Amino acid sequence: MTRLKPESSSTTWSSRNSCFSPGFRDIGPSGCAWTAARQSSPAQINLANLLVKYFMAGSWPPRVAAFLPTTDLSTTEMKQTVYPQTNYFRCYKTTGPDKRFFVNALTNRFFQPTRSCRVRTNACRKSEVGLPLLLSDGEPSSRRIGQSHLPLHRKGSSRFPTGTRCDRVPCEEGIMRPIRLFTVLSVMLLLLHCAGPPPEPEEGLYAFVGASVIDGTGNPPIENAVLIVRDGRIEDVGAKEVLPPPATANLVDVSGKTIIPGLINTHGHVGQTKGLESGPDVYSKDNVLAQLQLYARYGVTTVVSMGGDGPEAIELRDGQDTKDLDRARIYAAGAVVVGRTPAAVTKMIDDNAAMKVDWIKIRVDDNLGSSRKMRPNVYQAVIEHAHRKGIRVAAHLYYLDDAKGLLDKEVDFIVHSVRDQEVDQELIDALLSKEVCLCPTLTREVSTFIYESEPDFFTDPFFLKETDPDVIEQLKDPERQKTIQQSKSAQQYKKALQVASENLKKLADAGVTIAFGTDSGPPARFQGYFEHMELDLMVKAGLTPMQAIMAATGQAADCLNLHRVGTLTQGK
Ligand SMILES: [Zn+2]
Repeated sequence: MTRLKPESSSTTWSSRNSCFSPGFRDIGPSGCAWTAARQSSPAQINLANLLVKYFMAGSWPPRVAAFLPTTDLSTTEMKQTVYPQTNYFRCYKTTGPDKRFFVNALTNRFFQPTRSCRVRTNACRKSEVGLPLLLSDGEPSSRRIGQSHLPLHRKGSSRFPTGTRCDRVPCEEGIMRPIRLFTVLSVMLLLLHCAGPPPEPEEGLYAFVGASVIDGTGNPPIENAVLIVRDGRIEDVGAKEVLPPPATANLVDVSGKTIIPGLINTHGHVGQTKGLESGPDVYSKDNVLAQLQLYARYGVTTVVSMGGDGPEAIELRDGQDTKDLDRARIYAAGAVVVGRTPAAVTKMIDDNAAMKVDWIKIRVDDNLGSSRKMRPNVYQAVIEHAHRKGIRVAAHLYYLDDAKGLLDKEVDFIVHSVRDQEVDQELIDALLSKEVCLCPTLTREVSTFIYESEPDFFTDPFFLKETDPDVIEQLKDPERQKTIQQSKSAQQYKKALQVASENLKKLADAGVTIAFGTDSGPPARFQGYFEHMELDLMVKAGLTPMQAIMAATGQAADCLNLHRVGTLTQGK
């Protein structure tokens, strides 16, 4: 426990302290250390706490990094260490008296100001509305905020220039000097001056209030949360008692509901199926679009189409960076790369690269012994050539030995389970050391045998609401069912599902990053519905619901190198 006893008022707010608040001392590249006991006066602490209260309770957007723990920081109250990408903190007061601590607003993790930390306000982002009170630590001085933008930081000035009163102040990234006491007083006076009737709701500003929020970062759910969205991007999220909705927000009551990030399917196929028909004949931009809308209606907001894609998919991808999107985002692998020689595969990769695909997809599989498998020298050529073009390679596989061989040749992503046998430590070590994600696609196995009889989900309204009754009738056909019952491969894949499920649990327990994916899209692998079935199967395989959600949100985004989706955090 650290007892913080205010002692001296002489050096607080000193400009030699490049950290963001009094009480923090610059300790070099790792950030700031808490030194309040030596530096803060009671008056300053109280004033800053008043400010905190104002910001937390008032209509001012809570983006400001206000601060200042006061008297008694119990280390037991501060559960988490700081997150590496931390750049913005809020000070919260908890239930007990004088229990103040910092919470990283980006991750909602607690952090302990007694330890060294990286403290940077994230209050200034380009194109966002900033706030006059911004406090930060060491950015290069050349990137300091222009004084005209941030009058509060003018050294020796306690006055707002004409025209900026009560206005929000645009700001840029950069450093701001520690704030001085009289500046704080000025802010207080100004805030009093600005008090008035509640403003009109702002267009594009929404606060979703009252839901449980699972943010996809792995943090525990936030109960009775407030999720603030401005112009299609998340501005902030937190518990209602510490993050009141802005007075100018359009309020949406979502009490009793749970909000999670949109699901990310890292292995689907889009646009190549109509009904139970499949192939290039049915591929069209309209079909791709319709299927992306279908995914979205099931909450799948991002899908990687892992093969069989034409330029239509790329065109849609290039037009999807808009807040008005009414469908899932698509990323695409183009044509699946096949060939028996390095020259043949090189040509295909060049064609895909010219189309500007996101991934190269290969199949290293003999389809249960019925076809020829791509040889190691060929997949090595694929991987090397794709990497030269700056494109990552995803591999379809079935066998453990192929998984090891592909990892040895630096494949980037494994998009099916190992299904021939139990995974071993050698594979786990390779996946971990090379930081390769694995996508289990359990429902792919399900789809091979489930229609041997009438599946339970044929009566599920959640399935029926989006499925063509004709397709269901065709799948109920007794002749069709009999063929599947007698299919050797279907029965083999039924066993493979068991192996895949056990391997999923083993890999997840070993710390391998699991990326959610279904291989939905081909006939009778129902887009949208199968993603929910996959989550269920992952939990049945032994993952916790939170692990399954993580695999389908934050982790999936990480595996795909997508930085604006996957978590309910600021800026996404
Ligand atoms: Zn696939």
